[in-house]
Amino acid sequence: MLVGQLMQQGYQCFGPGVENGAIVLHELATPDAIPRGLQAVQSPGRYQLTQDPEQRYFAWANGPQAIKPLAFAPTESLWRVARDASGTLQFSAVLPAAPKRALIGVRACDLAALALQDAHFLRAGARDAHYAQRRDALLLVAVQCAAPAATCFCASTGDGPTPTAGYDIALAELADGFVVEAGSARGQHVVDALRLSPALAQHIDDARKQGESAAAAQTRRLPGRNLRDALMSQLEHPRWDAVAARCLACGNCTAVCPTCFCHAEVDQPALSGESSAHVREWDSCFGESHGHLHGFNVRPDIRSRYRQWLTHKLAGWHDQFGRSGCTGCGRCIAWCPVGIDLTEEVAALTAREATP
Ligand code: SF4
Ligand code: SF4
Repeated sequence: MLVGQLMQQGYQCFGPGVENGAIVLHELATPDAIPRGLQAVQSPGRYQLTQDPEQRYFAWANGPQAIKPLAFAPTESLWRVARDASGTLQFSAVLPAAPKRALIGVRACDLAALALQDAHFLRAGARDAHYAQRRDALLLVAVQCAAPAATCFCASTGDGPTPTAGYDIALAELADGFVVEAGSARGQHVVDALRLSPALAQHIDDARKQGESAAAAQTRRLPGRNLRDALMSQLEHPRWDAVAARCLACGNCTAVCPTCFCHAEVDQPALSGESSAHVREWDSCFGESHGHLHGFNVRPDIRSRYRQWLTHKLAGWHDQFGRSGCTGCGRCIAWCPVGIDLTEEVAALTAREATP
């Protein structure tokens, strides 16, 4: 019903589906294309699809990606240069096509992460046209997380599991239907067209309780919301060597992290030599080249790269954005091939230093 209405209003709809053994948000071909019963078991270094015995639509916790690649493209041309008939170089901007897109099933942790991406890409005086074009076209249908994965810890970062801001429409899935709430004028326009019956007080209360039990079910946590000083006072802690001995510097954690925005810009000349594209692609602070400055590397080993990632995310972001760069989605834990657990590392590093 909701998807059909969104399609009628001209939205390209993205919702949950399985690709390569994981639950992702992909384009829905028909209004009834959202499957029931999808779920996945997650733990450090492990992600496995299962079935929800209650056959709900949104019983899954986040897969490897959600909103980020649809706003901040993994790779895209920013501009091109070509030689014209007279041999003069002509430069032109390349802006993405940005059809209206509705994303159905986004979670509170990813809405909080998107707000951080907005703070970076849409900041005053440095608005990124490519990001802005895609972002403006997004309509976000959030869903309360009723069954967090074992890797989730959004309750401890204050970002979930119930969406509180940043959505156009919010849903809470209950045993006998959905509680639906509009969060913007665009969302209200869609909700009005659905002609729903008003939610009963009992349903609203059930949704609130469902959010509270989902938060209580989370077993992982960070020891505080502001770990800036606790971490920055431990830059020589032996734990950095211990984690570096396990870390493969593969960059998976940065690729799946919904707040990471590092990128590289490269020129890709055509074989003819007549044109070249200037391309932006996701980069990772775990890569050797990321720390390369003129003539030397400021982060030549894995110890310094892991430390850079963790201290930037949980300490430096407080100076840049007024909060930590972690929204507790747990992806970096599940998708780390050696099962490095950010919450475990932080607990060890800040054992006596956490700020409550
Ligand atoms: S650091 Fe890890 S848990 Fe935190 S937002 Fe990024 S991927 Fe999610
Ligand atoms: S922490 Fe894990 S996912 Fe991140 S770079 Fe190291 S091995 Fe890869």
